Amino acid sequence: MNEVATTLTLLSRQIGREDRRLAILGEGNTSAALGDGTFFVKASGCSLSDLDESGVSRVKMAPILSALDDETLDDAGVRSVLENSRADQSPKLPSVETFMHAVCLTEGGAQWVGHCHAESVMSVLCSEHGAKPFLGHIFPDAIVVCGRHVAAVPYIDPGLELAREVRRVLREFRAAHGVAPKVILLENHGPVALGASDKEVLNILLMLDKWARVLAGTLAVGTPKFLPSAVSERIDQRPDEHYRRAQIVKGPA
Ligand SMILES: [Zn+2]
Repeated sequence: MNEVATTLTLLSRQIGREDRRLAILGEGNTSAALGDGTFFVKASGCSLSDLDESGVSRVKMAPILSALDDETLDDAGVRSVLENSRADQSPKLPSVETFMHAVCLTEGGAQWVGHCHAESVMSVLCSEHGAKPFLGHIFPDAIVVCGRHVAAVPYIDPGLELAREVRRVLREFRAAHGVAPKVILLENHGPVALGASDKEVLNILLMLDKWARVLAGTLAVGTPKFLPSAVSERIDQRPDEHYRRAQIVKGPA
């Protein structure tokens, strides 16, 4: 079995660990680029917590990306795109979020992607505040691990429509900030982590989980005290934080 597929199952199980409360049952999905016009993505209906290689599909990038520009596709059309995009004989259908993963692995510049329904992050994203409390920072480590800015997407029907909106938001984000985000927050849904490695994806999700819990705590106690923009910029630019970021990509989770 391909080493990337094996690593993807290990990352998935880390995200799906019951004690972490990031995903239960079939929630969430993961992917990894292979650099040859294909990528691995979790198969539909499989659980992250016990994912093995039989729950990973290898998918061709081109038909998935062309579907994003095909306005004529209905639900049956989307299913047939997913069926025909399989690059091997896998009997399992790729996740319906394969389209969003393809966008993150191309427009988002990620090599590894993890999406989950973290209870903590959803507590904020499903509130009247939506993604807004995440648009400012309240402590330095969130800037180092999750990036200076995060991208936010309003609630959209999962699947092709959501992938189109994520693509639009990623393009807008790149135009505004010159880089891709490490985090996309899907309102009333959950977070997506975009990483250069499997370890970075896990670390982003763990830090985001902490950030959300701290945020919910500050909202319960009073009002979050946001760091001034200049302070957040400074933390983002510090050379020692660049070093820490490099360790986050490489180092143990
Ligand atoms: Zn989801």
